[in-house]
Amino acid sequence: MTFRTASRALAAATAALALTLVTGCTGDEAAGNDPERVDVVAGFYPLQFLAERIGGNAVAVTNLARPGAEPHDLELNPRQVGQIIDAELIVFLHGFQPAVDEAIEQHGGDHAFDVAEVEPLLDATAGGHDHDHGDDHDHSDEKSDGAKDPHVWLDPTRLATIGDKLAERLGAVDPDHADEYTQRAGALRTELEKLDTEFTEGLKTCQRREIVVSHTAFGYLAQRYQLEQIGITGLSPEDEPSPQRLATVTEEAREHGATTIFFETLVSPKVAETIAREVGAQTAVLDPLEGLSAEGGGQDYLSVMRTNLQTLRTALSCS
Ligand SMILES: [Zn+2]
Ligand SMILES: [Zn+2]
Repeated sequence: MTFRTASRALAAATAALALTLVTGCTGDEAAGNDPERVDVVAGFYPLQFLAERIGGNAVAVTNLARPGAEPHDLELNPRQVGQIIDAELIVFLHGFQPAVDEAIEQHGGDHAFDVAEVEPLLDATAGGHDHDHGDDHDHSDEKSDGAKDPHVWLDPTRLATIGDKLAERLGAVDPDHADEYTQRAGALRTELEKLDTEFTEGLKTCQRREIVVSHTAFGYLAQRYQLEQIGITGLSPEDEPSPQRLATVTEEAREHGATTIFFETLVSPKVAETIAREVGAQTAVLDPLEGLSAEGGGQDYLSVMRTNLQTLRTALSCS
């Protein structure tokens, strides 16, 4: 018995045990292994969206992140590790969810599709706001060793490119449906390019271009549409902003006449509210689309992005 099969067997046993212990829950729908369809596991929502849109009926997609939960700090339970082991394709973004990276390193090697490998990531500082060089040193972990910004899905044109590559990979896994995958990726590209045009037009003429956001998730969006991101926390929403960082952001918000401080659906709005109160601004949701909110409400990537566009147009007084 090789190490790989041994660890497979062990993980499967652990997973089965966990399933029985935890709930005796609703059965095997999560177990996958539908012989008719390609079992795809996605790390978090935008990758699920891509896999579902491009895979259509030929795939069964499982999202590792729960709806309504912030996915950066996702921890995997044994059942999910089992899903990673059994998946025919795992779609993930190296550097975004450390627990997923680790599980794939151990169990996923030959059946993983790394988004960061098909679409080069920007440096963590891209789309930033930089007349305050001194202060940016606060973001020590972002600046050091060429750290990369994982939030690549917030540029619709880059997401379209990732979609094309995912279609190729699905076609290699499941050659019978390769043409379908290519076709659906093309249709999705058309929709994403339309969205991109709406953003370009909608944000062309605005009174302000600085956006004060809760974590620096919007580097790709900012770069694509010539906005400047001022993040309260760093690349991960779990980072606590230092008092100096709070003071700097408050000062920046004042200096640039920000009318709105943005917060996110999946993390606490507390800090954004504090700054907003301080400078007499409002707060509004700018959704980094790391996951859909628990209510969902029939939203998807495209509809949430369009809501973001309206929010930005209002906050930045665009004509
Ligand atoms: Zn993030
Ligand atoms: Zn400034």
